[in-house]
This record gives sequence, C-alpha cells and structure tokens, in this order.
Amino acid sequence: MPRPELSLVIPIYNEEKVLPRLDVRLRELLGALAMNAEVIFVDDGSKDRSLEFLRGMAAREPRYRALSLSRNFGHQRAISCGMDASRGRAVVVMDADLQDPPEIIVEMVARWREGFDVVYGRRRSRDGETFFKVVTAKIFYRVFAAMIPIEVPLDTGDFRLMSRRVIVAMRELRETHRFVRGLVAWVGFKQTAVEYDRAARVAGETKYPFSKMLAFAIDGIASFSILPLRAATYIGLLVGFASVLYAIIAVISYLAGHTVPGWTTTVVLVSFLFSVQLLMTGVLGEYVGRIYEQVKERPLYVVAERINFKRARRRRFETLAGVAPPANSASSSDPVDPSSLETLVGVAPDVRGPSVTKAIR
Ligand code: UDP
Ligand code: MG
Repeated sequence: MPRPELSLVIPIYNEEKVLPRLDVRLRELLGALAMNAEVIFVDDGSKDRSLEFLRGMAAREPRYRALSLSRNFGHQRAISCGMDASRGRAVVVMDADLQDPPEIIVEMVARWREGFDVVYGRRRSRDGETFFKVVTAKIFYRVFAAMIPIEVPLDTGDFRLMSRRVIVAMRELRETHRFVRGLVAWVGFKQTAVEYDRAARVAGETKYPFSKMLAFAIDGIASFSILPLRAATYIGLLVGFASVLYAIIAVISYLAGHTVPGWTTTVVLVSFLFSVQLLMTGVLGEYVGRIYEQVKERPLYVVAERINFKRARRRRFETLAGVAPPANSASSSDPVDPSSLETLVGVAPDVRGPSVTKAIR
C-alpha cells in the first residue's frame, strides 16, 4: 500500500460490543473522505474478544491494521503506540466508543489542508456522562491551564488531528507518565479547534473509573508543573511566619502571667503541622517517583502482534527536518517508512490477514 495520507489511531480496551458499529461508521467515513487512509487499531491488552474481532476486520479490510500490546499499558501509551506506527501525513486519534463522531474528521482534514498542524476537537457538550465527571473535568482543565506555563486548549480530549511533523516531534517525547494532550500543546505549531457535541458511548462502559481519572489528572499536573513543589515552600513560609507570631503572643502572655493549660492549641497545632508535613512529603514523593520511573527507561509498550503490517525494513529514524509542513503535501518527498521504525514493534511476529497470506503463497 502506498503511503497513506491519513492515519486514524484508535485505542481498544475491551470494546467487543463497540467494534461492529465502529466498523460500519469507519467504512462510511473512509468513503466520505475519498483519500488514501489507514486505520490503526491498538489493542491495549483486551481481555474480551476485541482482538479476535480486529483480526477478522483486518482480514476483510486491507486499510485496517492492528497492533496488539502484550498487556494493558493504559490509554495514553496505547495511543502513543498507534502514533508511532502511523504513516499518514495527518494522524487522527479517536476513541473507539464513537463518543468522538468520526464525521468531524472530514472537517479536521479541511482545516489541516488550510495549513494547521493540530486540529483538536473541542467539546461543546457532553452527552451520557455523569454530572460528576463533567464537573470534575471542567474544574481540572481550568486548574491545569492556570498552573502550567504553556497554553492548553480547554475542554479537549485526545480526539485531534496532528500533522506529520507534530507526530515526529512527539516521538522525541518518551516520558513514562504520559499526558498526551499536554505533550501536543507543548510541541506547538499552528493549532486550531473544531467544535463538536460529544455523544454518549454507543455500548459497553467507561474504562476510566474515578481512580484512573484521578491518576490521570495527577500525571497531567506533575508532568507539566512543579507548582505543587513550590507550594510546599510557600506553605512552609506561611506556617513559619504564623508560628513566629504565635510565639510572640505566647511570650507576652507568659510575661503577663496569663499562662493557660493550652492543651487544645497544642493538639490542633501539632496535628495541623503534621498533616501539612505529610502532604508535602507526599507531593515530593510524586515527583521522586516519576524520576524513578523515568530513569529506568523502559519502553512505553510492548507489541505482541502486528496485523496487516509489512515486515519491518531496516531501522531508520525519521527526523523532523525531513517532514514537510502539513499543507504542501504534494511537494514533499516521502522520507522514511516510519513503520520500519520502532524498537519492539519490529521484533514482534508478523501476522497478516488470511487474504494477504494467501496472496503471498
Ligand atoms: N482505553 C485503552 N486502554 C485503557 C483504557 C481505555 O485503550 O486502559 C481506550 C478505550 O477502549 C477507548 C478510549 O481508550 O477507546 C477511551 O476510553 P473510555 O471511552 O472508556 O473513556 P471515557 O470516554 O469514559 O473517558
Ligand atoms: Mg469514552
């Protein structure tokens, strides 16, 4: 297959209920787009029959390709894997559950052709999500935006189109605790939004329970801001200042002969200061833990199976300089086949759909 113009990256974790409908909508989209496109499904260690479904889908549709991770590595790593393997001049990441309507991609592509490098979907409304999720997400994105020095778009998820040069720049960012939407903002280039109404999940249930959402939010903040660490300094200063004041009051009371038993004050003060200390140790721990995870330099994911992928060629790395800006795709040369890139991707056994295997025989 020649180099596709567009790659769709779709992470899949236990989505067997969703896949048949996704398949239909994707075919409609591919028809409407009328451009050379590929779809890369990344099976993130699903425990249901998702992988089986994907194998079947890829056997019937040569534009579908799939990578199966050796276990569940998490949403952010799954999309990183798909982005690494993508070859399109533009790459769109979308969820499998059709909460991100595929039809919006037509609009995204149009903006990309106008010369934008990143076209993110901004949620105008969110259907079928709990009040709690909507409110906490709203608060989080505002706090996050206020805390970090780079500009991040509000109310966006990972549903976005990125040009080749953004994808290549993203490949340089190999941090273990990934907050992909923040990393895309960090990369920069010309960015714009298209608005859409976020639909309800078509089937199955969310793979983001509260605990995962909280961990994701902490990852976002800790990987882009050291403000929590600095807060320790500020709170320390504040408490220190207050204790000096209190000491002065205590000395004056002593000299004036008003010494009272003071049990309550002692208990309140000790427990308050202790909890502040614990909290700050915890914050420190968050960052130390991240340093620890990072220095191990483990790969972000391990690929167990590749479906409808060509056998890896010689390893060569695409460089940013070799990638054309988004709009003038016609004039750019085709640099390197990035599917030949990865580390472990190339090591995994090469599995093809039955039709392809037959053609080779
Ligand atoms: N997902 C994944 N790995 C995970 C969790 C989720 O690949 O560990 C995928 C999931 O299959 C879906 C997307 O990430 O395609 C978003 O997940 P979900 O719709 O459950 O999240 P929500 O929309 O509820 O925030
Ligand atoms: Mg969803």
